[in-house]
Amino acid sequence: DYQKHVRNFSIVAHIDHGKSTIADRILELTDTVSERQMKNQLLDDMPLERQRGITIKLNSVQVKYHAQDGEDYIFHLIDTPGHVDFSYEVSRSLAACEGALLVVDATQGVQAQTLANTYLALDDDLEILPVINKIDLPSADPDMCKDEIEEMIGLDATDAVEVSGKTGQGIPELLERIVKDVPAPSGDLTAPLKALIFDSKYDDYRGVVLAVRIEEGIVKPGDRIKIMNTGKEFEVTEVGVSSPHPVKKDMLVAGDVGYLTANIKSVRETRVGDTITSAQKPTAEPLPGYRQIPPMVYSGMYPVDNQKYDDLKEALQKLQLNDAALEFEPETSQALGFGFRCGFLGLLHMDVVQERLEQEFDMDLIMTAPSVDYHAIMNDGSTKLIDNPADLPDAGEYREVQEPYVKAEIMVPNDYVGPVMELCQRKRGEFITMDYLDKYRVNVKYNMPLAEIIFDFFDELKSSTKGYASLDYEITGYRATDLVKIDMLLNKEPIDALSFIAHRSEAQERARQMTSMLKKLIPRQNFEVDIQGAIGAKIISRATIKPYRKDVTWKIHTGDPDRRAKLLEKQKRGKKRMKAVGKVEVPQDAFMAVLKMN
Ligand code: GDP
Ligand code: MG
Repeated sequence: DYQKHVRNFSIVAHIDHGKSTIADRILELTDTVSERQMKNQLLDDMPLERQRGITIKLNSVQVKYHAQDGEDYIFHLIDTPGHVDFSYEVSRSLAACEGALLVVDATQGVQAQTLANTYLALDDDLEILPVINKIDLPSADPDMCKDEIEEMIGLDATDAVEVSGKTGQGIPELLERIVKDVPAPSGDLTAPLKALIFDSKYDDYRGVVLAVRIEEGIVKPGDRIKIMNTGKEFEVTEVGVSSPHPVKKDMLVAGDVGYLTANIKSVRETRVGDTITSAQKPTAEPLPGYRQIPPMVYSGMYPVDNQKYDDLKEALQKLQLNDAALEFEPETSQALGFGFRCGFLGLLHMDVVQERLEQEFDMDLIMTAPSVDYHAIMNDGSTKLIDNPADLPDAGEYREVQEPYVKAEIMVPNDYVGPVMELCQRKRGEFITMDYLDKYRVNVKYNMPLAEIIFDFFDELKSSTKGYASLDYEITGYRATDLVKIDMLLNKEPIDALSFIAHRSEAQERARQMTSMLKKLIPRQNFEVDIQGAIGAKIISRATIKPYRKDVTWKIHTGDPDRRAKLLEKQKRGKKRMKAVGKVEVPQDAFMAVLKMN
C-alpha cells in the first residue's frame, strides 16, 4: 500500500526554461521548506550553481503532498541540469524515476535540449507530462508550444499543464496531475535488495554518500551490502532521504529514492551506475547501469605549485565521485611538470571542474588549451590516439590524421537560416539537410568537425541568431583531414603545453593570432622574450616582448564590456597563477589563448 502513494519523477527541460523555479514552488506548496528558508532555485545549493545561476548537478528531494483525494503522497523529485554538457546527469536521474515533467518555456517553445531530454525519457519508458511554463509573461504563447510539442515531439499536448514558476499559477493543478499521471513504483518488497546508485558524493565526515533508487527489497542500517560490479562488501551505517537536508530513516524500501552511507572511503570501491544488493541474499542480476560516455575535450591540468601533485590527485578522485563523467590520467609536460590529462564533456564541464577544484578543494591550477582527440594513422598502419596536441608525431611518421566529426542539429527560426548556414560553412561544415519543423522553425543539419563546434561555435551561433538558435550534436566518427601541428617557442624553446592542431588552410593565420595573443598575455620580463610559431622546423610567425619597464600594463582588446569585465576578473585570478616555463613567467591565460582566437 505504501508504494501506491509514492511518485518518482524528474524535471527536465532546455536550459533556463524554469525547472529549478518550478521545483521551488513545489517545495513551497508542500511546506517542505519554510517561508523563511525559501530562496530562489533552492536546490541549486552548490556555490558554483548559485554564482552562475545554472543547475550543474542533479538534486533529489522528498516532499509530502496531501492530495485532493484526501490521501497523503510522497514525491521524490529530481531537478536536473539543462545544458548539453550535463545530459549525463539527466539520464542518471531518469533511471531513478517513473515519470518526467517536460518543461517548455511558453515564450521559447521546444528547443534542442527539450528534444534531447525527451528522447532520454522515452528510452527509459517514462511517463512524460508536458508542462508549459512562464505563462505570466506577456509574450507567452502556450498554443504555439502545444503545437510544437505535438508536431516536433509527437506527444499529446491537449492536457499540458500551464504554469508560472514565478507566480505559482497552475502549480496546484500540476501536483494533482503528478498524482494521477505518474505511475507508482512497483518493486517487490520481499525480494532480495536491488538498488541503483545514481549519484554519489564525498563527505569529509561520512565518507562516500550514495544516492540510490531502491528497485526491490529493503535496506536498513546494520545490513551487509555488496556492490555487485566490484564485489566489495560494506555495512550500512545510515539511510535517509533529502528533504532537502538529510533526514535519517529507519529503512528505505522498494520504490524509494534516498541516500545511503556505509563507510565507503574510496572511489575505486563503487561507481555510479552500479547495483547494490544484500551480501547474504544477493539478487541474481545487476541492473543495466549506465553507458559510460566518452569525453569530448581534453586538457592538461597542473598544480601551480609542483608540491601539490598528490593533493590534486586526491581532489580529482573525490570530485570524480560526484562527477562520473570526469576522466583523468597522469601526464608529464616538459614545460609544466607533473599533472593530469583530463577528459570533459565540453567546455562548460571543463570550466566547472576547474572552478570546483579551486573552490571546494582549494587548488591553484594551470589548465592547458582544450583539444579534441585525434587519431594518427602511423606508417605501419597502427592507430595512435592523440589527446594532447604535443603528442602528434612529426609529419613523416604518419600517413594521415583523423579528427572526430559530429552531426550537428540546429533549431532556428526561419528568419535566421541564412546566417546559420554561413556560420556552419565557415566552420568547415558540410550541409546535410534542412527540415521545416512547423511554421515557425527549421532544423538545419550539418556534418562538422567537433573541434569547430567545441570552441566558440555556440557563442557565435547565439549572437548571429539573437539567441534564438539551439544546438545539439552527436559524434558520428573520425575523418581524415589536412591537419598540422603548430608548436609555439619561447626564446627558441618549444613549449609543449602551447602546441595546438589546426587545419592546414588556417594554420598560418592561427599561428599569427596565437603569437600576438601570447605577446599580449605574457607580461614583460626583465629580458627580451622571443615568441615564434612553427610547423616542424619552419617558423611561420614571430613577435617579441620587450624587456620590463616600470609600468606593466596588460592590454585587453575586447569590445563587449561584460566579457571584458569577466576577462579582467579572470585575469586577476589568473595573475597569481603564473608558471615559470624555463625562465619565462607565463600566466594561466596564455595557455588558454587558443580559445580566444577566431
Ligand atoms: P532552469 O535552467 O530550467 O532550472 O531554469 P531556472 O529555474 O533557473 O529559471 C531560469 C530563469 O527563468 C530564471 O531567471 C527564473 O527566474 C526565470 N523563470 C522561471 N520560471 C519563470 C516563470 O514562470 N515566469 C517568469 N517570468 N520567469 C521565470
Ligand atoms: Mg535549473
